[in-house]
Amino acid sequence: MSAVPVASDQARLDGRRVAAALLDGLRAIGADGVGITRETYGPGESAAFDLVERTARDHGLVTARDAAANLVVALPTAPGALAPSASAPCVVVASHLDSVPHGGNFDGAAGVVAGLLALLRLHAAGVRPARPPRLMALRGEESAWYGKAYLGSSALFGRLAPEDLALPHRAGGGHTLAEAMAAAGADLARIRAGERLLDPAAVAAYFELHIEQGPVLVARGMPTAIVTGIRGNIRHSRVLCRGEAGHSGAVPRWLRRDAVFAFADLLTRLDDHWRVLQEQGLDLVVTSGIVGTNAEEHAISRIPGEAAFSFEVRSQSRDTLEAFYHLMRTECRAIESARKVQFIFDRRLDAAPARMDDALVKRLLAHSAALGLPAETVPSGAGHDAALFANEGVPSAMIFIRNDKGSHNPEERMDMDDFLAGTELLHRALAEAAGAGEGA
Ligand SMILES: [Zn+2]
Repeated sequence: MSAVPVASDQARLDGRRVAAALLDGLRAIGADGVGITRETYGPGESAAFDLVERTARDHGLVTARDAAANLVVALPTAPGALAPSASAPCVVVASHLDSVPHGGNFDGAAGVVAGLLALLRLHAAGVRPARPPRLMALRGEESAWYGKAYLGSSALFGRLAPEDLALPHRAGGGHTLAEAMAAAGADLARIRAGERLLDPAAVAAYFELHIEQGPVLVARGMPTAIVTGIRGNIRHSRVLCRGEAGHSGAVPRWLRRDAVFAFADLLTRLDDHWRVLQEQGLDLVVTSGIVGTNAEEHAISRIPGEAAFSFEVRSQSRDTLEAFYHLMRTECRAIESARKVQFIFDRRLDAAPARMDDALVKRLLAHSAALGLPAETVPSGAGHDAALFANEGVPSAMIFIRNDKGSHNPEERMDMDDFLAGTELLHRALAEAAGAGEGA
């Protein structure tokens, strides 16, 4: 372990170089010929963890892996941050390093790199904060691989159920989440027991920097913004609509049990409800992102006997989520009797919405104003680990960085100047929450 004490201005200059090198390294690890693929609890994610850990150690920080195989980084002067307790709490800055298949390089990774830079600044300043800062690279934030999000942080709080651990890999026929976690070094016995690997009372504050995944900051010309809340969701990975196959020319309309028409009917009804609820001012988005007939038997001339689809509703309000889900199930029952089909649901998956901490949001807005950045707030339509920490009672806050072309695709684009502005903001808020003072 080699400490490299440098003046904070020098550290700021180094920040750009360290960030560029780390983001390039992460890009090289994840490059798949189309975009970036770093699989949840898979080799790409693990290699990314190794790179961040090596970089942290090379700069004199100390590191550890927790029982959920998350990476933890702390100042060498505050190794207690590696194992905080309610009587000696830490402040956490975190994000994730996995990606969706053919995703982009910055979704998740930007937050880990920003957190590392913030710690390096504090290290360079030689401070000994009262509440030591702790960078966490969290495992498995993306739901793309096992159908459930926030896996590393859920494991931390004893919130992975046996059904979660048995979730199959998206490719099917392969391994389960539990097997992938064990291979990455997680302690499955403790996780299966629902043990709290991290006491929420041991975390005084949680910060997460993330690229914005929608178009708002670009449209409003804002490099950064502060998040007010995170939408939750209710999902089904697979709903099967079962009707009856038949000859497309020979079966009259009144005798048909067409699964695709039934599914289309459902979507039309849900869209009507969505429009009405939105007009009433409710926060709501509805998506059916995976749709298909059975490829082994479908044909132009065959009435589809089966249609399978995914269902997702997101909202900042728990009540709206439940109300819309209830509407969906009610419409399914109506369509079942009208069209003589059956809807068969797989397990319902829930992610609770979360409010960010008012006091931390205010501080981030004040720091934004002091830095000449927009003192503006936005909601987060996408889910983040911050929601898990907030719902465990940890005061939590998020910084969004402007990002052209959305995320979960190879085109996502983040400007290094925007990133460094957000990192400066993160550094100030983190130092303050840690009790390290403004000058750190
Ligand atoms: Zn993300």
